[in-house]
Formats: sequence, structure tokens, C-alpha cells
Amino acid sequence: MSILRLAIPSPLRRPFDYLPPEDMSEAQLENLQPGVRFRVPFGKRELTGYLLEVCTESAVPGSTLKAALALLDETPLVDPQLQQLCLWASSYYHHPLGEVYSTLFPKRLREGKPPLPAGTPGWQLTTRAKGLPEEALPGSPRQAQAISLLRQHECMASTELKSSGISATVLRSLQDKRLIEPRLISEHSHTFKINDSLSLNAEQATVLQSVLDAGHGFSCHLLEGVTGSGKTEIYLQLIADCLQRERQALVLVPEIGLTPQTLARFQQRFDANIAVLHSGLTDAQRYLAWEAARSGSAQIVIGTRSAVFTPLAKPGLLIVDEEHDSSYKQQDGFRYSARDVAVKRAHIHGCPILLGSATPSLESIQNAEVGRYQHQQITQRASSAGMPAIQALDVRKQVLHAGLSDTLITAVEQTLQQGQQVLLFLNRRGYAPTLQCHDCGWIAECRACDARLTVHRRRRRLRCHHCGASSVLHRQCPQCHSERLLAAGLGTEQTEDFLHTRFTQWPVHRVDSDSMQTKGAMQALADEINRGEPCILLGTQMLTKGHHFPAVSLVAVIDVDALLFSADFRGEERMAQLLTQVAGRAGRAELMGKVLLQTHYPDHPALLAMLSTTYGAQARAMLAQRRETGLPPAGQLVLMRTDCRDAEYGEQFLQTLREHCTPHLPPDTRLIGPLPSPMQRRAGKYRCQLLLTAPDRSSAQAAASLLVANAEGLPARQGLNWSIDIDPQDVF
Ligand code: ADP
Ligand code: ZN
Ligand code: ZN
Repeated sequence: MSILRLAIPSPLRRPFDYLPPEDMSEAQLENLQPGVRFRVPFGKRELTGYLLEVCTESAVPGSTLKAALALLDETPLVDPQLQQLCLWASSYYHHPLGEVYSTLFPKRLREGKPPLPAGTPGWQLTTRAKGLPEEALPGSPRQAQAISLLRQHECMASTELKSSGISATVLRSLQDKRLIEPRLISEHSHTFKINDSLSLNAEQATVLQSVLDAGHGFSCHLLEGVTGSGKTEIYLQLIADCLQRERQALVLVPEIGLTPQTLARFQQRFDANIAVLHSGLTDAQRYLAWEAARSGSAQIVIGTRSAVFTPLAKPGLLIVDEEHDSSYKQQDGFRYSARDVAVKRAHIHGCPILLGSATPSLESIQNAEVGRYQHQQITQRASSAGMPAIQALDVRKQVLHAGLSDTLITAVEQTLQQGQQVLLFLNRRGYAPTLQCHDCGWIAECRACDARLTVHRRRRRLRCHHCGASSVLHRQCPQCHSERLLAAGLGTEQTEDFLHTRFTQWPVHRVDSDSMQTKGAMQALADEINRGEPCILLGTQMLTKGHHFPAVSLVAVIDVDALLFSADFRGEERMAQLLTQVAGRAGRAELMGKVLLQTHYPDHPALLAMLSTTYGAQARAMLAQRRETGLPPAGQLVLMRTDCRDAEYGEQFLQTLREHCTPHLPPDTRLIGPLPSPMQRRAGKYRCQLLLTAPDRSSAQAAASLLVANAEGLPARQGLNWSIDIDPQDVF
């Protein structure tokens, strides 16, 4: 008897056995390859399952086995290496295999639909249309929509355009105007052209050569290069080498690092098919980019976190830019680190991988120190300017205007008068983080979270930045009906208002997730800033990633103190990374840069370290501390979390789990908790956690298996959810 063992997207951490579909022939059964999709009955639903193996015995009695409904693929859509990666990730992160498998596939395929056949008719922009400025494009809304869809994508299938509301008539008139042309999707195109590259300086050349010398097999390199040292140029030249070998390059960038500027740099260098994958794509766009990567027609694939699972026909090189960035870690559901998965993937494919950052994670620095990664360093900026000078600005006893001291205001004014740009960093959006009644002390709090509501004055709303709840901004105190409501504390909207009135001659641009909501807003702003006219940029961390603003010569952090006191053991590392990255926006071209940090704690050790040493030196000192305390990367952490509407029950669940596991824990591992999470109540649920510390990876893994096996055996009442997080990012 043949039994199909399938991975099914379900929270249960085990494979599921099925009988073959009734209409399946012996020959078909014999030819089945792992990875093919089946449609199967699952409870009352039908789901897509992925074949793991064909076996002859099942723990489930044959009579109760159900038959799969249909075989969906002749051959698997993803290669054995990628399937191997899924098996590894499922086991390492203790996440259900079926759910890991389904992250491989775009929606259409997860739903069990067939792939669009190669040669599906589609459309792309003509070279002429690509070169035309926005204004010269057609006025009809449908035509403009079609152009904008095709701009975002190499090409789109006619059917997908139709489902986006673009009729054949619209397409025909665009074709008549020579703006679009027909093209067959998934056509193999080997043609590409590499445009002129920069000639590398000595440090860059050494790095490039040593990565090339490591060969085409697996090798992992940590490229530690100061901000503006020309890391991207090295990526581009390595990719050029990869394309010449007729292989594909996969480049991962942080969530908000995938800016139009970054993309433009790749597009300028390569006349090639570049597939772009990020969270803002429609399902149809995602499918086409995925298919282009899988078929090999895209030579370069650039994407954010989940792009690490994109199938590649001919993988040749992986790059993880800003490898320290926390957006590589998925924080819910399948909690994986795309950086770590990428290293594993390169290992499985047998190809080189490069992790780049000006501020590498302590994990990667340690890996470089023990020789697991090859350490490549660039200590000088590529431009003539050199590193910016960093100063603390003591604001004690000073008058602050929307957070700005007079000294800072003067520095801003001088910079603008010299015709240069200013970047002000304030990591709090909205107008003010608190709304308080002056007469009775009432404070606006979120109903569902242990958190205060943020005042958003532009839209006249109060918002919770934790659960997204939003309500109309009060005019009166709900408790005493006083109208004397105070917006306490500082947010970007407030500072923007002040800057507008204080610096009337100069433009002020606010950059945060509120102001950059519309598509193309960031592009328009980047274009504006790169014209180089004096202006003020005020923004959150959105401003710090992936941007290259050559005319910025002054950078100021309005409230460094907000970063100084963190309960998390990674707080200091994050602060050093963030400040180094913010500071790195200054003086990237010929201008000498200056960085001012406003603080009430000019003697704080972390701040003094920032001023006196490099990130590299700070990181090594922090690493030494971690070795003393046994915290990552010296030791390993695993976090069990619960969330539950009932405040007590989650804690009881973890307490019972702890009691069951303690006698069987591997030596030198320890359980801490259960403890309430730092923000105990979020979106109406009470959160609790149990932390495991372990001296090394294998004991952490053994303990994690123990925790999961026991948690699965415990009754989870009261709508309790539990999850396990391997190598958690946020612990306290
Ligand atoms: P990073 O990625 O390390 O922050 P970039 O690659 O963005 O640095 O380079 C910073 C600036 O220096 C860019 O404007 C880039 O064009 C320029 N640059 C990089 N390498 C060279 C080089 N070898 N010669 C001249 N300019 C360079
Ligand atoms: Zn009141
Ligand atoms: Zn809330």
C-alpha cells in the first residue's frame, strides 16, 4: 500500500498521511517527487498539501485514512534544496512544516491553482515609455494606472491586467502610442548588460578580490564597512561577476531600506530583469516576480525578509544588506531570522553569501571572530569627506523649543545659510505621546492595551501605536469636562510645526510612516532632496535606512535620552547601531559632516562610548560583556509566550509547563518565569512569557523540543495561544 505523507498548513506540528487520489495510476505513483502539491480534505475544508514522501506504513489505521482529492503538479515547483531549507527551518524554529512550506508559494499556488504556463501573453513598457517623464504620460486614469502597474513590474499577464480593471481597449490605445508592447511571460531571457562601474579604492578592491578568491562554492563573508564606505559598490561588482557566470543573485534589504533610490542604483548598473519582492505588492505582482525568479528569467532578485524563500533556478550569490537590521526577524507566526536562513540557504546551495553592515550584529561579529565567517573590513569612506564629528549637546537647564535647544537652532540656521541640508532625528511620530487633563489629571489610555494614546493633531485623532486603535481627539476631559487638555511630550508633528514657524524661508519635510503613506511619496521626496537645495528633514528611523543624501551636512538627534535607558539586554547594541546609522547620513559627499546629540545625561557611559570610539570598538566591548553574562551570542535564548483574554490562565499554563519540563532539562539550561510581558495587555490580551537560557545551540534546541512537546500536550483553554521564539529579538 502507498501512503502519501504530506506537510499541511495547520498549527499541528506533524505530517499528515493520506491515501493517493482514486484516479491516480501506478505509474504516476511511482514517479511522484517530493514537493508536488495535492489537494486534500482537511476537517471540513480543502487545503493544499505538499508531498514529503511516499511511504508504505502509517501510524493511522488504513481504514480511517482519507484519500487526497487531486495531484496538482507533475513535477515539484520548487527544487529539492529549497525543500531541504524548509525542513531545516521548521525543525530549527520549531514551526509547523506545512506553514513553512506555504511561505514558499505565492497565494495563487497556495490556493492550489496551476502556475501560469510559460508563454502566457502579457505586456511590458516600451523603452520609450520607460524614458518618459511622469508628465508626458497619458492623462486617462485607466491608461495611467496601466503604466504605473507596468512600471512597478517588468511585465504583467493580460489576465492579471484585466483583473486590475484594465480593458483590452486601454491596452490597445497604449500600444498605438508605442508605450507598451506585448511580451510572453516567463520567457527565458539570457540577455543583460552591465553598465560602467566605479573604479574601486584599495580597501574595496581587497574586499572584492578576497570574496572572489573564496570561489563559487559556499563561503560566508561579513563585510564590516563604515557608513558611506562603498559597500553597495562591492555588492554591485559581485553581482556583475555572478551574472557573467550565468547565475542569479538574491539581495535582501531591510523592510524600509528598499527605497526607490536603492532600486534605481541597481537598475542603472544592470540592464537586466530585476525581480522585486516586498510587502507592498499585489498578489498578481508577487506571483510574477516569484515566477521570474523561479524560471531564471530574472537575473537579480531584490526583496525584503520573506524573499529569502524565493525559488531560484540558478542561485549564484546571496547578499544581506544591513544584516543587523531587526526587520529581518519575523516577530509573529513563523518567527525566523531571514539573515540566518540566508546563511543556511547559501550553505545548502553551495554558493557564496555576503552579510554587509556598518554596524554588524554581535552575532555576526562573533561568527567572524571564531572564523565561521570571513571578515572583510573597510575603515574609510569612499568620498573625500571622512567621518563626521560627533558631539553631545548638554541641554540641562536650557530652554527647549519643541525639543530644540538654542544651540541646535543656531547650528541649523547656519547650515541652511551655507546652502546645506539638515537632518533631525526624532523617533516618535504623532504630535505628542500623551493627552492629559490639566484640571483633574485624567490621561488618555488605550482600552485594549497597557499603553497611552498618542495625539495626532493633523488628523484630529488619538491613536494607539500598539494595537492600531483610533478615536476622535477629545475636546473635553471625559472625567471632569474641562477643556484644558494638555498634549504632553514630543512627537514629529509638533517639532515640524515649530520648524515651519521658525525657519519660514526653508522647506521642512517630515518623514515618518504617517506622512509617507501614499505610494511614491518617498520617491518624490528623495528626488526633491537630491536636488541639493537647503532644507530641513525631520523624521523617524524611516530616514536612517538606505538613504544617501549628499547635501546633508548637519545631523542632530533631538532626544538621545529616549534611547539610553532600555530594559532589553540588546538596548545598548541597538542604540549604538541606530546612532551610528543616523550619524552616517552626515557628510556623505564632499561636505564635512557634523552630528549633535541632545541629552540630559552627557556623562552616560553609553553616550561617552559613542563619542570616543567607533562602533566596532563598542561592539567588541559589548561582546566581552555578553560573554561574562552568558547572553547571546555567547549563550542561547528561547522564549515561550502566551496570550490569553484571561489574565491568570496564561501564567498558569506556563507555570505547569515549567513544572513538567524542569526535571528533564538539559544540563546548564535554565527557565526564568513565567513573568508578565513588559506590556502585559495588548489588543485586549494578557501576555506572559517563559525564558530559557542555554549555554549552546544544541542544548537550546533540545530544551525547545521539550517545551514544545509538553506545551502540545497541555490543554489550552480560554482561547489561549502559545508560541515559541528561537533566538528572540525582544526579550524584556
Ligand atoms: P555604503 O553602502 O557603504 O553606505 P555607498 O556604496 O552608498 O556606501 O557609497 C557611498 C558613496 O560613495 C556613493 O555616492 C558611492 O557612489 C560613492 N562611492 C563608492 N565607491 C566609490 C569609489 N570606488 N569611487 C568613488 N566613489 C565611490
Ligand atoms: Zn479632567
Ligand atoms: Zn492599543
